[in-house]
Amino acid sequence: MLDNNTQDLAGDVFENYKRYLNPPLARVMKLSGSPVEVRAQGTTIWDQHGKAYLDFAGGYGVFTLGHSHPRVIAAVREQMESMSLSGKTMFNVVLGRAAKRLAELAPGDLQLSFWCNSGTEAVEGATKLARAATGRAKIVATHDAYHGKTLGALSVSGREAFQTPFRPLLADVAHVPYGDASVLDEALRDAAAFIVEPVQGEGGVNVPPAGYLRAVREACDRAGAVFIADEVQTGLGRCGYLFGCNRDEIVPDVMTLAKGLSGGIIPVGAFIARPAVWNRAYAKQPLVHTSTFGGSEIACAAALAAMEVLVEDGLVENARERGAQLLEGVRAIAAEYPSVIAQTRGLGLLVGVELTSEGYGGWIIPEMLKAGVTAAWTLNQQRVIRLEPPLVVSAGEVERALGALRAGVATAAEKLGRL
Ligand code: PLP
Repeated sequence: MLDNNTQDLAGDVFENYKRYLNPPLARVMKLSGSPVEVRAQGTTIWDQHGKAYLDFAGGYGVFTLGHSHPRVIAAVREQMESMSLSGKTMFNVVLGRAAKRLAELAPGDLQLSFWCNSGTEAVEGATKLARAATGRAKIVATHDAYHGKTLGALSVSGREAFQTPFRPLLADVAHVPYGDASVLDEALRDAAAFIVEPVQGEGGVNVPPAGYLRAVREACDRAGAVFIADEVQTGLGRCGYLFGCNRDEIVPDVMTLAKGLSGGIIPVGAFIARPAVWNRAYAKQPLVHTSTFGGSEIACAAALAAMEVLVEDGLVENARERGAQLLEGVRAIAAEYPSVIAQTRGLGLLVGVELTSEGYGGWIIPEMLKAGVTAAWTLNQQRVIRLEPPLVVSAGEVERALGALRAGVATAAEKLGRL
């Protein structure tokens, strides 16, 4: 057991990061005053000094149920007593049950799922499925999209800086503006798939106009292209709907999931497809897409328990109500400080605060940390701070986070005034 309360711990961790992990990242984290996380429960993370932080970064969307949810932990513990990882040569009971429950919750006739270990793997699986199902190669995606960092997922993502060192990426990929359905008929000609997030998370929390996904559905139908909804971040309650697609009441052909799927306990990812699409790809070739660790007993036990908690505890409704409160509060702060905040956007508990300059986040986030609240950038858009707390967050906790944000923004405004 680590002695987590010593001052030495921070020095140790920094040295290990610097020597054995990622030296430049270590320096950036140190400069921004990043503490050492040692314990977490519910909406709270504790650092090496015992200081508590309200987690409004939420593991970038992983901690839908908060940290260390007791029901999920109990389910995993119980599962570990009998079998942890699949032997792969026999039927796996928990995988079957998790797949069934996911199909019951997913929109429409989404039914056949493949289980893997991360969001990017889910995207790889979904795009491969689309190619195999259509016999076409071209994948259309959106500017500023984030779908992961393995080569295929990176190819359909929309940030140059992440792509440039790795070119050439997947051929036959086109990008179109997000939220604009008028470009789709032209772009989707001969395409295998259109992949899109119901709300762009890492792109800076971009919420498309209502009806966009419906128009996407219609355009994909006209083009014979597979509609992949990447719900890795928006799925499972995050946006105040069980799935982001439910906002427009549409059924995509394939949906990808990860982040909140196991309630923040075990890495897991999945894609779920309509049988008509899945069968066209894999009815005769059941083993062309596989994963050794995917669908492990412990991941599936966690996912089953997490899906039950999400539904039984009314977390989707809470996300919608607390999300509205959070967005309203952020808008009030934005109205007070127009020199610092350019725009606020959000759906449910995925809220973005767009700053008037990229640099201001470097003042605001550390100030929030000092006040005991975590927040994070978005990966593709450094001007946007995201607020993405667990869906179990209370009204009082939202107010506390708003207080910390106000203090951070006020500090930025003050520094600006002095420049
Ligand atoms: N798709 C979306 C929409 C995401 O937001 C992310 C991660 O942020 C991914 C895919 C990649 O997931 P992972 O980091 O688990 O590979």
